[in-house]
Amino acid sequence: MGKICTKCGQYKELDQYHKNKTRKLGYSVWCKACTSITRNIYYKKNKEVRRKYSNEYDKKNRKTRKKYKKSYTERLRDGYVIDILMKIYEIKKKDISKDMINIKRKMILAKRLIRLKKQQIKTTGGA
Ligand SMILES: [Zn+2]
Repeated sequence: MGKICTKCGQYKELDQYHKNKTRKLGYSVWCKACTSITRNIYYKKNKEVRRKYSNEYDKKNRKTRKKYKKSYTERLRDGYVIDILMKIYEIKKKDISKDMINIKRKMILAKRLIRLKKQQIKTTGGA
């Protein structure tokens, strides 16, 4: 038993069709050969489209990423904070907890903010 493929119009045995429960006969309307050809074309097309999109996405986001990178260093890396903690308090790296890092990081950022504020006051005369 077989049927005619709606894509290539050839009569083929049912084992030449993929099973498809949503179809009346329980088989795909296209034969396996046609399905795989169409799939390949779709995949290739899709690949190009995806590449194009990702390039555009890249361009658009390069600026944002740079910004993010900067803000990341401003948030201070753990390693940087650990170094400072070790120097100031003369403690070993293994004695430094995540909490200590977070608190110290906030202190550093607070100091920076204060310094920045003072500079603003100097340059703007307090306005
Ligand atoms: Zn076919």
